[in-house]
Amino acid sequence: MSLDTLTGLLQDLIRIPSPNPPGETRAVAEFCEHFLQKAGFTTQLVAPDERAWSVIGEIGNDDGPTIIYHAHIDTVPLGRNARWSYDPFAGEIDNGRIYGLGSVDDKAPLAAMLYAGSFLAERADDLHGRFVIVCAADEEVGGQLGTKWLADNGYLPPADFAVVGEQTHNRVATAHKGVLRAAFHVAGRTSHATDPWRGRNAINGMAHLILDIERYQRDVLESRPHPLLGPASINVGLIEGGVGSNVVADHCTIRVDRRMIPGEDPRVVMDELRALAAGRQAEDDERTYTVDSFLVSNWFETDAENEYTQRFLAISAELTATPAEPIGYLPGSDAKHLVDVVTGGMVVFGPGSYQVAHSTDEYTDVQELAATGAILRRFLDQTLFQ
Ligand SMILES: [Zn+2]
Repeated sequence: MSLDTLTGLLQDLIRIPSPNPPGETRAVAEFCEHFLQKAGFTTQLVAPDERAWSVIGEIGNDDGPTIIYHAHIDTVPLGRNARWSYDPFAGEIDNGRIYGLGSVDDKAPLAAMLYAGSFLAERADDLHGRFVIVCAADEEVGGQLGTKWLADNGYLPPADFAVVGEQTHNRVATAHKGVLRAAFHVAGRTSHATDPWRGRNAINGMAHLILDIERYQRDVLESRPHPLLGPASINVGLIEGGVGSNVVADHCTIRVDRRMIPGEDPRVVMDELRALAAGRQAEDDERTYTVDSFLVSNWFETDAENEYTQRFLAISAELTATPAEPIGYLPGSDAKHLVDVVTGGMVVFGPGSYQVAHSTDEYTDVQELAATGAILRRFLDQTLFQ
C-alpha cells in the first residue's frame, strides 16, 4: 500500500458522514469491517443500541504481546454557522491538506491504524502476538456507548500496550486532563427594584462567588501544576438568573467546567467546590449557596518508562525528528475507558492538532499523516515479529 492509498483511505472515511449527535456509525463501521476482513482480520461489529456501532478487528496469536490501536469513528456535528471553503464530506485535497469533517479528529489516526494493520496478514506465519484494532463509536459525547461499553462487556482483550489515536502532531502523549462539571446556585429574595434593600439579590451574591472562584484558580490551582499538562483550571461557562431589570433577582446559577490534572481525586475536587459554596455562605447568611449536578470524565496518565511506551517514543522521535520525550494532551480521550483493559503502557498519538479539530475547514496534512502511518507500522514490525 502506498502513501496514495493511505490518503485515499482517509478520503473514503471522510465521505461516510458520522456526526455525533446523532451518533449513527453503522455505515462507517461497516466500511472499517470490510477493510479489516480484506486485510485478513477477524472482526466483530457490535452496538449496545441501534446507532452506536463499533468494530473490533483482530489478527495474530497468544505467542507474544497484545497491542491495541484505537480510534473513534464518530465526529462532531457540523457547526451551525459553519461556512466551509470545502465540501466537508468530499475529502478534497488542496495544497497538501485533506479537508473534511473528521479529517483529523479522528479519521486520520483511524486511517493510519487501518493502514498499519493491513501489512500483517502477509506475514501472519511469523507473527508473535496479537494486534487488535478498535474502531469505536460515541467518543465525542463521552464514549459510554462506545469504548466504555466495549470494555465493560468483555469485547476488548487484556492488552500490553495501546495507542489511542487523537491529535498530538505525532508527538507521544502519556497524560490527559479530566473534566468535572458542576452548577453553583444562589437563592435570594425578590422585591421591587425601586427599593432593592427589601430583597436579597442572588446575582450580586453570585458575583462574589465568581470572584472566589477566580481566587481559587489563581491561588490554589495554579500553585500545583502537572509537569506535562500545567495547572488544573476552572471556567465559568454559563450564567443565568433573575426575571427582569425591575425585579431583584431571587436566583442565579452558573455552570462551571473544572479541568482535573492526573492525580486529582474527583471526590476531593467536589469537596473543593463545596468548600467554595460553604465559604461564601459563611460570609453571607442572607442568601443560600449550593453546588450540585456533578459530572465526571476522568483524566489519564501512564508510566512513560514502560518498555513499549519507550519503543513507541523512540520510533516517533526518529521518524519525525522530534525529542523522544512524552507530552501532555490537553483535551480528553477514550484512553480513560481503557485503563482497566491495558495493563502496560498506553499513549495518545496522531497527526494534527486538537485546535484544528471541531472547527470549520478541519484538515490533515498529507505528509504528517504519512508519518503517522509509518510510525504505527514500524511499531508493529518491531513488536510482533520478534
Ligand atoms: Zn477525537
